[in-house]
Formats: sequence, C-alpha cells, structure tokens
Amino acid sequence: MMSRYAMQGAAWVAVYLLFVLAPMIAMLAGTLPPARDFWTEFAVAIGYSGLGMMGLQFGLTARFRFVTRPWGEDVIYHFHRQISQIAVVLVVAHALIMSATRPEMFALPGAIGDIPWGAVFAFASIFALVALVVAALWRVRLGLSYELWHASHIVLAVVAVVAGVAHMVGWAFYLSDPWKRGLWIGLTILWIGLLAYVRIVKPLFMLRRPYRVVEVRRERGDTTTLVMQPNGHPGFRFSPGQFGWLTLWGSPFKITGHPFSFSSSAEARDGRVEMSIRNLGDFTSRIGEVPAGQRVYLDGPYGAFTIGNPADMHVLVAGGVGITPMMSMIRTLADRGDRRPVILLYGSKDWDSITFREELEALKARLDLTVVHVLSKPPAGWTGERGHITADLFRRHLPSPYADHEYFICGPGPMMDAIEKALGELRVPLSKYHSERYSFV
Ligand SMILES: Cc1cc2nc3c(=O)[nH]c(=O)nc-3n(C[C@H](O)[C@H](O)[C@H](O)COP(=O)(O)OP(=O)(O)OC[C@H]3O[C@@H](n4cnc5c(N)ncnc54)[C@H](O)[C@@H]3O)c2cc1C
Repeated sequence: MMSRYAMQGAAWVAVYLLFVLAPMIAMLAGTLPPARDFWTEFAVAIGYSGLGMMGLQFGLTARFRFVTRPWGEDVIYHFHRQISQIAVVLVVAHALIMSATRPEMFALPGAIGDIPWGAVFAFASIFALVALVVAALWRVRLGLSYELWHASHIVLAVVAVVAGVAHMVGWAFYLSDPWKRGLWIGLTILWIGLLAYVRIVKPLFMLRRPYRVVEVRRERGDTTTLVMQPNGHPGFRFSPGQFGWLTLWGSPFKITGHPFSFSSSAEARDGRVEMSIRNLGDFTSRIGEVPAGQRVYLDGPYGAFTIGNPADMHVLVAGGVGITPMMSMIRTLADRGDRRPVILLYGSKDWDSITFREELEALKARLDLTVVHVLSKPPAGWTGERGHITADLFRRHLPSPYADHEYFICGPGPMMDAIEKALGELRVPLSKYHSERYSFV
C-alpha cells in the first residue's frame, strides 16, 4: 500500500503537470488561428510549456510545508534547479526554431520604434533567463556573494516570467480570445502573488514572532551553538532532524536567511531551540559575535529528514557539521527514554575537533548508544577507525541483515555520494535511507 507521503507526492506531481500542460491545452480551445507548419507550431508549444514551468518555480520555492513534506527541501531545490534548466532550453529552442522557420519575424525594422512590443518582451525574457542560469550555475566562479546572487535571482526571475507572458499576450497569435489572455495573466498574478507571500506576507507574521538568543556556547570544531527562546509567543514544535531559516542582524524582510538544522532535543516544552553553526564563510564566521539577548527570527520547521519510521536500530552517519541533526535525534531519543540501539558513525578531521564529543560520551548512560569515531587525521597511537566511511566499515560495526535498520546520513557531498554507494553494495533499499544535503545550490 502507498504511504501517506507517497500519495501526497503523487498528487503534487499531478498538480504540477496540470499547471504545466493545462495552459497549453487551453490554447487549442476557442478561436484558433490558421494552422502553420509543424516546426512553427512545435516551437510555440515548447515556448508555452517552458514559460509554464518557469512560472511554477515561484510555487516550488515558496516553502509551503504541505508541498515539500513528501520529499524534503533539498530535493525540491535540486528539482527547481534541474527543471529550470529544461525550461530555459525549451524557451531558447522556441526562439531558435522560430528564427529558422519564420525568419521574417526576426528581420530588423527600419526604426527602433517600429520593433513590435511582443519582440521587445521576448528579448527581455530570454536575456533575463540566460543571465539567471549563468549566474546560478557559475555563481562561485563569477565571484558573486550568495546574498547578491539571491537578490538578482529573484529580480531576473520576475523579469523573465512577466516579459515572457507580455510577449505572448503582445503577439496574441493563440491568445486572441480574451479568456485565454485572462488565463495567462491570471496565472502570472498567481506566480507573483506566491513571491509576494514569501517576501511580504510571511515576514509580516514572523515580525510578530521574534526569538531571543539566551546563550551562546562555544563547541569543539570551530562551531558555536545559539540557544534561542521565543519572545512573547509559544514558538513551534519540530521533529528531530528538521531545520529552520535563521535571520540575524536584520528583519524577516531581509532577502537571505540561512538554513541550519536544529541541534537540540525536540522534547523541549518551552519552545527553546538550538542551532550549532560551523564557521564556514562570511555569515557563519560572525556567529561568535552574537551577544546574548540579541533578537533573531526563525522560519521553520522544514525538512523530511527525521526519525519516526519503525526501526529496529537507528544508524546515524555524520560527517563534520552534519552531526547537528544527529545530535537532535540522539538528544530526543534520550529524552523519550527510547531503548532501541542507536549507532553513530561520525567522521571528523581530528580528535580535538569532534563537536559534541564529551556530551556524546555522557549520553551513552541514557540510551543504547554506540559511537564510532572515524578520523581523517588521527593522532599518533590511534587504534580506532581512520580515513573514510565505507561499506567495509558498515560491515565491521553493524549487525546484519543491514536492510532492517533505518539509515540517516548528513555530511559533505562527496561523503554522502560514497555512502549512498556503500549502502547500495549492502543491498539497503532506498526506503531505509534518509539524507539531508547541506547545499541547495
Ligand atoms: C538544510 C540545511 C541545514 C544546514 N544545517 C547546518 C547546521 O546545522 N550547521 C551549520 O554549520 N551549517 C548548516 N548548513 C550549512 C549552512 O547553511 C551554510 O554553511 C551557511 O549558510 C553558509 O553561510 P556563509 O555566508 O557563512 O558562507 P558562504 O561562504 O557565503 O557560503 C558557503 C556556501 O553555503 C551555501 N549558502 C550560503 N548562504 C546560504 C543561504 N542563505 N542559503 C542556503 N545556502 C547558503 C552556498 O552553497 C555557499 O556557497 C545547513 C545547510 C542546509 C541547506
């Protein structure tokens, strides 16, 4: 039988296809222009679907929990990235095929003022789209900060979609019926409305639900924990492994929030949450400067990376700062008095940089916890595991059959890829495998 999340996922895929295909099918209803050659009609069709897919990106990135729940945000963002590339290929192919089949439409008129608006909007849309994709794919190489890239990404996306629809309406070949124009204009208002919801309405709600930092704790491994308490409201409940978007030094209207897993127990009843943040860049290097008492904003909880499925044993695999969601799971299981075995395979650079090392040791008294440290730079005389986490390492530390346990993996990309492969070798089915990638881009 299909699980509830699988059914929700299938329903959302159907809604997605409906929104991409219905406007194209609607164009074939009502008054129809005279048919043209196959390639011209094909180019129009892919242009319409490309634009429909681009518009839906506003829905994908609107952080609606009921939409993202079946997959998790990381999967949704990867889909957003991949499907955008397909949409851009469709729109650019639309222009290229049109220029080949109907070159007269691309002939430059005598005066600039004679260029039809439909064409001006087409160029604006394609230019914005190409700039958007180039910046998204090569942001780091272009030296763009995440914040600048994020702001320009939103502006370019709005220009691409609004100009694209203006092009279609301006050309009006298939949209001569007012109801068809109304359909596309209505869809565009819906897409931009989703953006307005995320950027204006939601921040207004968050403004009334601030948090205060009540403690700033230094941890091993260049990591700082912020302990945050809701200020004047009860806060939210989360499941261990989930994450939230943190806004520091600014209001919730600030364009870029930063995602961090909750590292505290989900059993805290007073809405208190903790995030443990490793110094990895501009924003994270300043976390140590945050004074107690500082006002912050939290948007959450998000993510499908959480315990809850029936499991004989939880196998947690963490690399570096990927320990934070595992810490929340372990603390929560301890608070719940869960006696099922938990094994943590924890990759770190060296012995001194193992975040939460002492607390993990202490937690062994409260639950059936085994911790296997794997060091890439072990000290002299180290007899424990070293190097990388491999299928052999799983065989050494886990009881078989391996397919009976639930696996949770979070760490650097290459480590997660290697573990996916190792679990494949051990014939662990995908349904037993849960992961959170710390990169949405
Ligand atoms: C779901 C999730 C949970 C995470 N949990 C933790 C955690 O518990 N502890 C922890 O230390 N780190 C966590 N991270 C990583 C953390 O979000 C980034 O390290 C941090 O945002 C980097 O910001 P920076 O400005 O210091 O670094 P930069 O040098 O500016 O960025 C480094 C890289 O981080 C990514 N990044 C930067 N800003 C953002 C942003 N606003 N949104 C998304 N990605 C961004 C980009 O890929 C960028 O190339 C998590 C990431 C994700 C996606």
